[in-house]
Amino acid sequence: MSLVTAKDLRKDYRTGEMVIQAIRGVDFAIEPASFVCFVGPSGSGKTTLLNMIGCLDHPTEGFLTIADTDVSTLDQRSAAAFRGEHIGFVFQDFNLIPVLTAYENIEYPLIMVQKWPVGRRKARVHSLLEAAGISDQADKRPDQLSGGQKQRVAVARALVTNPKLVLADEPTANLDHETAYRIIELMRHLRDEFETTFVFSTHDPKIMAEAEVTYVLEDGHLHQEPGSAEGAQ
Ligand code: ADP
Ligand code: MG
Repeated sequence: MSLVTAKDLRKDYRTGEMVIQAIRGVDFAIEPASFVCFVGPSGSGKTTLLNMIGCLDHPTEGFLTIADTDVSTLDQRSAAAFRGEHIGFVFQDFNLIPVLTAYENIEYPLIMVQKWPVGRRKARVHSLLEAAGISDQADKRPDQLSGGQKQRVAVARALVTNPKLVLADEPTANLDHETAYRIIELMRHLRDEFETTFVFSTHDPKIMAEAEVTYVLEDGHLHQEPGSAEGAQ
């Protein structure tokens, strides 16, 4: 059973009289514990597609299920609850809270979303700091961390609630190539360790090569890159 299934998924943006067809009828399936990339130039629809998978925006038409739930019609409140339980997010510009330390940033979803008791929280945050290779940065605030370290904190934060799916929209766009490669390598390692499904987007062909399954977006149309594993595993 696929974790994410999309059938004839479409997204139009309407601004006044204008209709922009950002996603024009795409089909795909994402398997549990797979490592999937959507690649395409700026404006091809990556963010639009990831926002729909992340239940941040509704499809205009089509079918989208995640973990056996039809998410295309969830109201705002149900979508927020669904995200809190099933989905972690990593952003291009890290989106860490500047006044909190690395430890506190990672702990935040456990307090705000899942309301874990304090002892259980502490053990979980420490295990994520270690898994992300940043135990020695726990007490630093974001402005004391490098870009790569910030993104490691963000990846650890995305995973702390043990979501089934982590979505990363251009997570390496603000990093140099070597650091970008290491972040993708970290995500892949964490996929192996926690069996979390990772879906990321990029416009960088070198980064795309690290994925097991690659989908190419062009003007809202999707095709699977030849040679990438069909549905993975
Ligand atoms: P990418 O992330 O690949 O750069 P986007 O999903 O952001 O692509 O954009 C796809 C298309 O949809 C582009 O033509 C973009 O201008 C348009 N678009 C994206 N968001 C909006 C919006 N909120 N309103 C209107 N048009 C949008
Ligand atoms: Mg984008």
